[in-house]
Amino acid sequence: MHLPIVHAGEPVLRKHTRALSPQEIRSKEIQKLIEHMRETMRGAPGVGLAAPQVGLSLQMAVIEDRKEYYKEVSAEQLKLRERRPVPFHVLINPRIQSAKDDQIVEFFEGCLSLPGFFALVPRSRSVRVECLDHRGNSKSIEASGWYARILQHEIDHLHGNLYIDRMHSRSFSSTENWEKFWKGKPIADVRSELGC
Ligand code: ZN
Repeated sequence: MHLPIVHAGEPVLRKHTRALSPQEIRSKEIQKLIEHMRETMRGAPGVGLAAPQVGLSLQMAVIEDRKEYYKEVSAEQLKLRERRPVPFHVLINPRIQSAKDDQIVEFFEGCLSLPGFFALVPRSRSVRVECLDHRGNSKSIEASGWYARILQHEIDHLHGNLYIDRMHSRSFSSTENWEKFWKGKPIADVRSELGC
């Protein structure tokens, strides 16, 4: 079942979400919700979907980055973004830590709740995340590159934050114009051209 995805302006996207107990996670309702969120994310398609995006204020998100999404991305861009496939998994009650030697990287990103737009967003290159999995068991994730970016983006959603709160606002662009003017350009050039 594809759930409707809510867009920016919906109050639920700006709320702090509530944590789930391991018992709740194992319930039929949450197990069903995980399946529906997986189908909704694939249908969009997207590499992540947080519960507030389907109108639910819960500390839960699903993530999956599939190789078949790479058709439109050049080998050079994949390498630059350190983008590698990520198998489907669920993120529940996540706690995030940036790496000690925190390195900030900047790339354009989009969001299913802000369809039709992209912007340059600085984020940590690598993170460590403590969370619960789909069975309610503790899990620790070490991630770098694009996967780390997805994690930060989704965890932001669980705290009522959107990428527009972190973006270089002068880089905000329609998808059409992003493809036309900025997509293939080195970020340093983009920043100097835009003055950000
Ligand atoms: Zn998003």
